[in-house]
Amino acid sequence: MTKIALFCFGLQMLNISYAVAQKAPAASGHRKSRKPAAASSTKNHKEGAGTRAAKDPMVEEIMREVSPQQIQKNIEKLASFGTRNTISINNPDAQTSGKGIVAAYEWIKSEFQRYSDACGGCMEVNTDERVLEPTGPKPRLKGPTNVRNVYVILRGTDPALKNRIYVVTGHFDSRAKDVMDSNAPAPGANDDASGTTVSLECARVLSKHKFPATILFLTVSGEEQGLLGSAHFAKRVTELGLGVQDVLNNDIVGGNRTPGDTKQNSNWVRVFSEGIPSNATPDQIKEIRATGRENDSPSRELARYIAEVARTYPGFGQFTPQLIFRRDRYLRGGDHISFNEKGFAAVRFTEYREDFHHQHENPRTENGIEYGDLPKFVDFNYVANVARLNAATLASLALAPAPPVQPRLLALELENDSKLEWGPAPGATGYEVLWRKTTDAEFPEENVTRTTDTKIVMPESKDNVIFGVRSVDAKGHRSVIEVPEPERKKEE
Ligand SMILES: [Zn+2]
Repeated sequence: MTKIALFCFGLQMLNISYAVAQKAPAASGHRKSRKPAAASSTKNHKEGAGTRAAKDPMVEEIMREVSPQQIQKNIEKLASFGTRNTISINNPDAQTSGKGIVAAYEWIKSEFQRYSDACGGCMEVNTDERVLEPTGPKPRLKGPTNVRNVYVILRGTDPALKNRIYVVTGHFDSRAKDVMDSNAPAPGANDDASGTTVSLECARVLSKHKFPATILFLTVSGEEQGLLGSAHFAKRVTELGLGVQDVLNNDIVGGNRTPGDTKQNSNWVRVFSEGIPSNATPDQIKEIRATGRENDSPSRELARYIAEVARTYPGFGQFTPQLIFRRDRYLRGGDHISFNEKGFAAVRFTEYREDFHHQHENPRTENGIEYGDLPKFVDFNYVANVARLNAATLASLALAPAPPVQPRLLALELENDSKLEWGPAPGATGYEVLWRKTTDAEFPEENVTRTTDTKIVMPESKDNVIFGVRSVDAKGHRSVIEVPEPERKKEE
């Protein structure tokens, strides 16, 4: 947003009461429609020229603080535990050998604690564990196994926003070729010491600052045994009713560099997001189909938000996220799916081009090919760029107002105008209504109308375009875009 636009907009907003403290709703792609409301008014609306989000100097500082040297140290340390196979917790010498997942887990905890100590105890270092039994036709556990996660909370400072929680995660377990082998070397430098390190580095740099909303730094185990740690954590936060909003999963973000490989692109990180929410019921899928929202899940809006953050803070050289409109790589999966299945917006970051000789392989050289997921194949500057994008996204989300509450597109009668309504959002001083063609991948910045109202009549027909609404504050922070759900006549 330009300074002038911001200033005018800010003045307009002074008389609006927005700071309504309310419990953050659990993120879900599907909400029940509210009762029909009165017809929209058009006051306080302002068509806008194309704008960029305002840059926040704090976010720029955070990006500068990310350290490739620290990242290298962390990845080398994590790779030094020999294996981090989840079932190595049951190895006879697990507690004393200094090797295996127990030692890695203790080190991760102590590292997070060190960052918290450095900010005067500003973060809570917690653990989450559960003994799981082998289940299913092809269990990846040999017997009862304690699957442990580490999560660290940087509490928000705004009473109206602190129940909103933004999560970054990576998995610290690793595997050899045989996923059931808890002794074979499995350095897992790229998969997924790199993602674990993104979580650690985000905690280190973000803990030097304060945010209105809460940020949670998670590292999970059990991924290679079937997403066990993330599934347990997603279930737990659902049961506890914690206000988790958005989840950034980093898995294989090492930017693999094999000597002689010319096909890797160290300027690109893929961001995968689901189209149809994994937890959608048949009725909800029917409605998604009837309204053409197959490309507008909360996870996809999160992916679009990440792309916008990268455009706002182009401090990455040529580094940019490539949005892939698919839940994960073809027929494959990761920890974000555990969150998707519980109805949370969650995306996956992965390097542009994976090298399968350096994934899930026992380190060895065969026919001149070096196998194994070793630190020497990791591009630490690349991981630093991924960490910067994650940190900038988390900071932007945690500085922003909450998104508009339950936006609805009124479809009470047939008409060519489009009426939208939403509830006031904590922290918002105004709203931006955007639209895009159904064939567009993202909402173009020029299609924006600003208002301090919580309803609007748009001249574009809902038959032809996709609408979205986001909250803004006086400093130009923006929420994620919410795409309205239809509000229909009862008898339909
Ligand atoms: Zn992985």
